[in-house]
Parts: sequence; structure tokens; C-alpha cells
Amino acid sequence: MFTSQEIIAMHPRDKGVYFGYPPCCIDAFLQCESVDSAFDGTGFKTCKKCSERPYLEVLEEINSRRKHHERFPYFTYKLVGTRITNEV
Ligand SMILES: [Zn+2]
Repeated sequence: MFTSQEIIAMHPRDKGVYFGYPPCCIDAFLQCESVDSAFDGTGFKTCKKCSERPYLEVLEEINSRRKHHERFPYFTYKLVGTRITNEV
């Protein structure tokens, strides 16, 4: 388990891996090629390809890889009025 300060100090690629983001999206972020997506506001920026994938599919992929103790996302403003639970 990392402290929040250790997480902040991570290289952006390591941070992306730690949070379970798809490698293609991490690459896109590092090359400033991220695009707008349903995940805006969560801290996760998608690549063009993943922005067109089903929201829940990407969500599951992130959570299946994630090393961080809290599931993704903590919050979302896109699903107004909908509470996302951590239960699958
Ligand atoms: Zn991607």
C-alpha cells in the first residue's frame, strides 16, 4: 500500500498502471492524445479507441487491474442521480 504522497510522486505511467488504466490510454495521456469521454471528471483520460468503448466495459477493465484499494470511479458527474456502487 502506498501513501498518497508516494502516489503523487509516481511517474505518470506508474500512476496509470497503479490505478488500473488501460495501457493504450496511459500512452495516449503521455503523448497528449487523450480525448474527452464519459470519464471526464474522474481523473482518468481515455485514448480515442477507449472513449468509444462501452462505459461499463472500460470500468470493469480498470477495476480488474487496479492496485489502488478504492474502486474506480470515486464519483462521476455524468450519471446524475445515479449512485454507482462498488458491487458488481
Ligand atoms: Zn485506451
